[in-house]
Amino acid sequence: MRAEVFAKDTQSLVTASRLLLSVGARGINVPNKATVAQNPELAPAAALHSLAAALSTTEMKGVCPHYSLKFNNDARDPASTLRRFEAFCEEAASLHVREILLVSGSGSRSFDSLACLKALTLPAERRPAIGVAFNPFFPDRAARMRERARLRQKLNTGAVSAIWLQIGSDVLLLREALAFLAELRGVHPALRLYGSVFLPSRKLLAQLKFRPWNGVFLSAEYLSSVEVASTITCRVLDAYATHGVEPLLESAVRSRAEWRAAREQLGLSPDIPAALSTAEDPAADATEATEPGLSEPPLSKRPRRQSNPIAPVDAEPAAAVSPATSAGASGAAAPTACSLVWFRTFDIRLADHAPLRAAASAGPVCPCFVWPARRGTWSLGGAAQAWLREALRSLAGGLREHYSSRLVLRAPSGGGDASDEYLAAAAAASSKVAVPRGADCAAAEAEAVTTAAELLRLADESSARAVYWHRSYEPEGQRVEAVVREALRGRGIACVAMAGALLYEPAAVHCPAGWQGGHWGTLMPFLRACERSGPPPTRPTERPVAMQPPCAWPASGALEDLRLAAPPVLSGGSVGRDWSAAMMAGWEVSEAAAARAMEDFVGGGGLAGYEARRSRADEPGAVSRLSAFLRFGQLSPRALHFAVRDAGLPREQVKTFARRLHWRDLASFHLSVFPEMPWRPIRAHYASHEWSGDASALRAWQRGNTGFPMVDAGMRCLYATGWMHQSVRMVVASFLIEYLGISWVDGARWFHDTLVDADLAINSMMWQNAGRSGIDQWNFVLSPETGSQDPSGGYVRKWVPELAGLPTKHLHAPWKAPAATLSAAGVELGATYPHRIVPDLPAARRITVAALLRMRASSLDFNDAGGYDLITLPTGETTRVFTKQEFRLTASGLLKPPPSGSRGRGSARSRHTSGGGRASGRGAQLQGKVSTGQKKISSFF
Ligand SMILES: Cc1cc2nc3c(=O)[nH]c(=O)nc-3n(C[C@H](O)[C@H](O)[C@H](O)COP(=O)(O)OP(=O)(O)OC[C@H]3O[C@@H](n4cnc5c(N)ncnc54)[C@H](O)[C@@H]3O)c2cc1C
Repeated sequence: MRAEVFAKDTQSLVTASRLLLSVGARGINVPNKATVAQNPELAPAAALHSLAAALSTTEMKGVCPHYSLKFNNDARDPASTLRRFEAFCEEAASLHVREILLVSGSGSRSFDSLACLKALTLPAERRPAIGVAFNPFFPDRAARMRERARLRQKLNTGAVSAIWLQIGSDVLLLREALAFLAELRGVHPALRLYGSVFLPSRKLLAQLKFRPWNGVFLSAEYLSSVEVASTITCRVLDAYATHGVEPLLESAVRSRAEWRAAREQLGLSPDIPAALSTAEDPAADATEATEPGLSEPPLSKRPRRQSNPIAPVDAEPAAAVSPATSAGASGAAAPTACSLVWFRTFDIRLADHAPLRAAASAGPVCPCFVWPARRGTWSLGGAAQAWLREALRSLAGGLREHYSSRLVLRAPSGGGDASDEYLAAAAAASSKVAVPRGADCAAAEAEAVTTAAELLRLADESSARAVYWHRSYEPEGQRVEAVVREALRGRGIACVAMAGALLYEPAAVHCPAGWQGGHWGTLMPFLRACERSGPPPTRPTERPVAMQPPCAWPASGALEDLRLAAPPVLSGGSVGRDWSAAMMAGWEVSEAAAARAMEDFVGGGGLAGYEARRSRADEPGAVSRLSAFLRFGQLSPRALHFAVRDAGLPREQVKTFARRLHWRDLASFHLSVFPEMPWRPIRAHYASHEWSGDASALRAWQRGNTGFPMVDAGMRCLYATGWMHQSVRMVVASFLIEYLGISWVDGARWFHDTLVDADLAINSMMWQNAGRSGIDQWNFVLSPETGSQDPSGGYVRKWVPELAGLPTKHLHAPWKAPAATLSAAGVELGATYPHRIVPDLPAARRITVAALLRMRASSLDFNDAGGYDLITLPTGETTRVFTKQEFRLTASGLLKPPPSGSRGRGSARSRHTSGGGRASGRGAQLQGKVSTGQKKISSFF
């Protein structure tokens, strides 16, 4: 392995070079990072002279200076730039340098390396060999093709003897490029190949995240941890070894110990190889040592670092072995190790799938999905299961179409067999893992153990040495992961869990208690905390270019075996109605359909019109209808985030929609802080609120038979299609809580079961807010009778067809219509359409408000001096949360009068449309509003 010298002046240059050559580097590279004026000591010629004075002739033969045309450029005269370069070449040759690396340098210039090579007149015998740079890692295929064409042109000049490969992390792209270079070597057999690698460290990854290097393409998974980056680097080195590429270490090494540690981390023998000792012998000629193929033994024959937890110990580089077997040290055929990619219920896609890419670049891949018969309380509801079924069908099709691969499905029962070694191992693992709050039911435990056991079994059956997956942010999902990790690691199987379901990692977002330009946990403080938490979201990645199959496919169950949204088996054994078929008929569930829907919305006017039309339930295309695609991960949030950004629309036009994705993140943040929020009020004292237990009212609401057309239309639409417009969700939620006085938990449960986009975090956040116990208590009440979300009446006519004949002005409140109008429309209230279940809206609301005030008055410990609710964060801090003016109490439990002349958040946002009040269209748009006086967030377009 060669090494790059890190130096700032002559002295450090000499010291570092000596050290590297003494510890066994096969040669050193001296970068050129400044003009002569900027750093005269490290200008190429000066640096060579300093080294020549300190090193032996043999050592100088191993020095490769870089020469950048960016820093050695005479802007006015290309001929003068060429003369300078040729003079440098002659000087280098006189100092025994055998090889130089000519680069254009960043930015564009007319006299670049290609132009220089074309213009070169200095004969080969008067100069060192010239190497050029090549980047295999451009994510864009067209850019890769351009890079190849340019390389061919450089080689055609006849002046190039070596190619230096840029650093990157996509091993598949690297392998493709190496195959291309092998072809070129057929024409130019003397070509030498060198390839850069980093030595991953926390500091380096942090630096690369915050200040990415120009032209260096490192994936999010590479940057995610030292562990992952080291594994990828090992794979890169495998590929280099297979193709005779000499590695160049581009990280600073300051001591013999660091050199040893570096070799060890990169899976190279920690000992200085015997062959290298000749390089340390000043009398020996270093030339042979730098020849490709003579460098170090192929990686597969080197001892590997056993402690690297995710480097598959016995995996061979894919190109070097037959797909089915590889010869082990004994020469006996052993199965090739593969990686399992464990698909979850929220990442059912091929594109922008970090675990899939990472696994594919590491070797053979076995994609799998596990659906245990017994699952936690907050596992998917019926409608979401129907979506999942189609999403899995489509994923399996995509894997088949693009890679001739498969999706291995498993539906373990988990019960019964006490002698099952996998179940026993998983149960033992489970007993070592602490149960997180929010995931403590027996069914969740069964899910965790059964899933872990099945992954162990799959790993055995497919000879997997690593399992890759996306992290879940739900408490039960996290519990499953923790048990899986413990079980797999117990068997020496590496686990790589990656981010991908959100724009920001909830655990990285720190929201200090108190007012931060908004109450704790509300959108704007959260957004600012996200921005502080680290780099902004990175661009989505394409699906892997290629994927190798495992050497043996484990058996897969049929999709039907998962019994997702399966029709019920009735008493007597007959099968009930397939309720989901009609609901799913209206949806095309695939990754391609998700991408099309996004493009149609973003490019087809939906996004541009969102600010004005988003509350209109009666206008097709007013909102994106992307929620289920996002829920199941068929659309990655990063894809949507960047599609909106790239749309080129003015910030004012897209800001509300762009924030929707941050609301999504905010919900997961809330769930991470309050894992019990699906059923327990975040404002703890609200648990003593007295709700109505009127089961018939709840049923009328669920079935869309309340006699309020807007509510009924929404609930029927939900039942029929699995989806409801946001403004209508707010109307029906408001109705259930404010007028029926029924607990938000009942509403949340119903939505969880009937929404195709049911998302535990979002659903819980929205219902908690509607039920007043959430972080951002709704500061409005939506009228169930104004129909402001449906001014044309088209929505109600579609979903409540028995009222279709009514004129629009009476459609949303038919009880106010004259008898003749009703009769002309064929409507008979109480017969063709129900009477209102709440005849007096203001009176009904007075009852629920009184119950709330009673609860608050009996919990004055949670009432601060301003009358606001107090909550306790897991950190132990207490913070005030927004509380509606009408709920604020004095210290003695009396209603607190509004501060005179106040234009605070409460009064500014308060919108009361109970009873006959008229809600404006914007009344439904809580998400669009922010409290006053907030700083603009620069990067939040
Ligand atoms: C009581 C209630 C329950 C809800 N339950 C869910 C749920 O289980 N799953 C769900 O995805 N959404 C839920 N929402 C939020 C919202 O109604 C839906 O996301 C939205 O209607 C989906 O339609 P769309 O894709 O056309 O949204 P758009 O308006 O086009 O928004 C684009 C995307 O932004 C996200 N988004 C939009 N609004 C919100 C929000 N308020 N909070 C978080 N993310 C948001 C969604 O992913 C959505 O697909 C709920 C809202 C209410 C009032």
